[in-house]
Amino acid sequence: MALKCVQCGSKFPFYPPKNKCEKCGGSLEYAVNLPKNRKIKFSGKLRFWRYRSLLPPVQHVVSLGEGGTPLRKAERLAERLGLRELYLKDETRNPTNSFRDRAAALLASNAIDLKHDTLMCATNGNLGASLAAYSAKAGLICHVIVPKFVDVGKLAQMLVYDAVIEEFGETVDDSIRRAEALADETGWYQATAELNPLVIEAQKTIAYEVYEQFGVPEWFIVAMGGGGTIYSIWKGFKELKQLGMTKGLPKMIGVQPEGCAPIAKTLAENRSTPTKIAKPFTRALAVLVANPLQGELAIKAIKESKGLTLTVSDSEIFTAERQIAKLEGMFAEPASSATMAALKKLVKNRKISKNDRVVCLITGSGLKATDVLQALTKKQKTAVIGLEISTKEKILRIISRKDTYGYDLWKKLGKTMTRAAVYQHLNELTEKGLIVGYAKNGKKFFKITQRGKKVLRGIDDLKLLF
Ligand SMILES: [Zn+2]
Repeated sequence: MALKCVQCGSKFPFYPPKNKCEKCGGSLEYAVNLPKNRKIKFSGKLRFWRYRSLLPPVQHVVSLGEGGTPLRKAERLAERLGLRELYLKDETRNPTNSFRDRAAALLASNAIDLKHDTLMCATNGNLGASLAAYSAKAGLICHVIVPKFVDVGKLAQMLVYDAVIEEFGETVDDSIRRAEALADETGWYQATAELNPLVIEAQKTIAYEVYEQFGVPEWFIVAMGGGGTIYSIWKGFKELKQLGMTKGLPKMIGVQPEGCAPIAKTLAENRSTPTKIAKPFTRALAVLVANPLQGELAIKAIKESKGLTLTVSDSEIFTAERQIAKLEGMFAEPASSATMAALKKLVKNRKISKNDRVVCLITGSGLKATDVLQALTKKQKTAVIGLEISTKEKILRIISRKDTYGYDLWKKLGKTMTRAAVYQHLNELTEKGLIVGYAKNGKKFFKITQRGKKVLRGIDDLKLLF
């Protein structure tokens, strides 16, 4: 077991974990000593720690029951797409509802082995939520650095698991730089995914599980942010092949949102090192990464596996999210729904054929994402606006039948609101030029204007449409 440079092949001691080669600056990864062509018999329940023999060594084990997530056959989605076999690896079923629980289990265990009492990470959300929970379980202090935009559900998890939360930067790229500096300053355990190669080791167990649950698919689709996740799955399958447990390997597909696709762009331009993109944007916050530090690894996985990358729009992502929910009863977060949006395109343009078996990685739960809240508030807002309109409409209809005054209106409306509210509506309708006031018998009467009549006709037309 050693840390090995993917560029120059130099080897370093395996602990403490570090991410950069001292000689050439290349990425470091764990080279596990695999017995050649010796099938391993895993023991224990289908859970994360079942694969301990293929992970860097651990003495203290921290666990909340991570891993062993279902691989669900998505029959209704497959039928819609015209595919024979489609599977969703449902990582929402982890203890804090994302795949990062695997990483948190290994990182917290390693932090204790190395005698740290504080661990820290820069995060777009899921890793922070996971680490906060595992730190709570293990009695560690957890310091998370988050960018300005984080999914609220993930932030709520960090808060409730009692992490120290520091906001730094516009995107996670800024937060990662801060995390690097802070670890140097404090000596805290560095648990940022891009800076600790144990994360890749933890996540490669997803590939082991899929292999045990089903075998090796033709295609494996993963959403890409920092680039590490797709590589970890590729690494897992490669190790199984090295062990002689499988002959075939999946072709890896990496998906990015159109507004933030530095890895896809690099591949399209036939380069191997991604550069930071300006003004990244997507509502799939989990993959909002402008400068993917593990982009090289992602490209390696895609090229070695003869896979491909593609981009999908935010609206395609949200359509896919609803489809996964409606057809399969699974609430996936936007980033992982991108895999389904991509699959639709690839079936349509015949890159993926009917008989190919496909696995999409569903990394986290949609309940964590901010758009849940936005969707709810939006609905409430329209309901409130609807109520406002209907009261004004009622007043307008009453006045259109016969000129009247405030007190009379209040009675005709069934005294359902305060008289002040009635006058408020009258004022607003007058301001909009829909009614006009005049004095008669010492009272202020109102009558409808031409404009008011036009608006009422408009409302009637609109109602016919629904
Ligand atoms: Zn090197």
